[in-house]
Amino acid sequence: PRRVVVVGGGLAGHTAAATLRAEGYDGGLTVLGAEPHPPYDRPPLSKELLAGTVDDTTLKDDLDADLRLRCRALSLRPGTVESTEGVHPYDAVILATGSSPIGLGGTSRAVHALRTVGDARRLRAALRDAASVAIVGAGWIGSEVATRAAALDRKVTVIDAAPTPLARALPGAVGGHLVPWYAEQGIDLRLNTPVTGLDDRGVSLAGGGRVDADIVVAGIGARPDTGWLRGSGVPLAPDGAVDADAALRTGPGAVYAAGDIVRWPSRLFGGRIRVEHWDHAAASAQTAARNVLGHVEPYDPVPYFWSDQLGHRLQYVGHHDGAERLVLRGHPSDSWTALWFDGRRLRAALAVDNPRDVREARRLIADRVPLSAERAADPAVRLTDA
Ligand code: FAD
Repeated sequence: PRRVVVVGGGLAGHTAAATLRAEGYDGGLTVLGAEPHPPYDRPPLSKELLAGTVDDTTLKDDLDADLRLRCRALSLRPGTVESTEGVHPYDAVILATGSSPIGLGGTSRAVHALRTVGDARRLRAALRDAASVAIVGAGWIGSEVATRAAALDRKVTVIDAAPTPLARALPGAVGGHLVPWYAEQGIDLRLNTPVTGLDDRGVSLAGGGRVDADIVVAGIGARPDTGWLRGSGVPLAPDGAVDADAALRTGPGAVYAAGDIVRWPSRLFGGRIRVEHWDHAAASAQTAARNVLGHVEPYDPVPYFWSDQLGHRLQYVGHHDGAERLVLRGHPSDSWTALWFDGRRLRAALAVDNPRDVREARRLIADRVPLSAERAADPAVRLTDA
């Protein structure tokens, strides 16, 4: 191609552009980013930036590209992207528009979301002045915000409709082990508790209860930012994901996708999967960029995700869909690992304060090494020897 347009100035868009240049591409390269900031990293927003030890997470390497900030793509047609700035012709395009938080809706009260660096700075300032914080959603974002608010000694309440924390990512048998962590940090965790309304004093709960709080934070998930692709011919899944093939190509024409928005067919795990992970955003963008340049590399990673919360480091590798056999390795009062088995095949692992297990599990999953679930359950046996 002589003209490549990358839509989205987040980690995936940035990595796609950097990879094109690193692979020797010397044609036209335009990156359209809706935000006013050059590409930056998001994981520290709910960790170091909220804690105040970091204020700027801008990605370092200089992009040799025409980076258009505050420029939102509005539509895609064969050969052109139309944006708030005009028309950008392309021979190949990489879609990397990421996701936006789901709002609580139906309220005039200001509710904090956490997706952008602006959101994070606003929340940090609000936490400074607030005495009490209500966090809706005991997911990845909610638990990290709760961690910070508790460290500041605020009165923190986390409210979730599900029976256990991280319920969309983990079964109750695993998430249940996280429940005591909240009390240990002085956080009031209300499970099985749908929020029914918001007002100036706080939130009202199903069953008639309420939680009064100076600030309300919503962490109830995110959706692919792909509304602008409707009518473009790019196939979209019901949740808004861009459906791509194993080389991350979608259509029509030379259209590729990477990062949070893409759903790809996984040979390793079977079926089509989509994840919202830093590691995947970078890796999928590298593959998409190389394939734009004529490679036909399949994308078939072992997904990896981490979170620092409530005094623990959680690391997840692989992919599980609920049909697997769940095995607990170690004891929840110490470091431990949950393992998901399909017969003798390890499909996923969640390690709590246990980085060695994650490293080993990642290799075992990628290489499809058969294991004994019984032996793997014994923390005295190394995973690689199970
Ligand atoms: P994004 O980073 O969302 O970037 C997409 C960009 O495209 C955005 O700047 C957006 O404004 C822009 N855009 C959207 N629509 C348009 C348009 N029409 N035109 C132009 N530009 C557009 N992952 C982990 O693995 N570990 C963690 O600990 C972790 N912590 C996180 C903490 C927070 C607070 C958040 C928000 C995310 C965290 N993640 C974490 C997830 C990880 O950051 C994301 O998976 C990753 O940022 C996805 O990259 P992306 O480039 O696909 O999307």
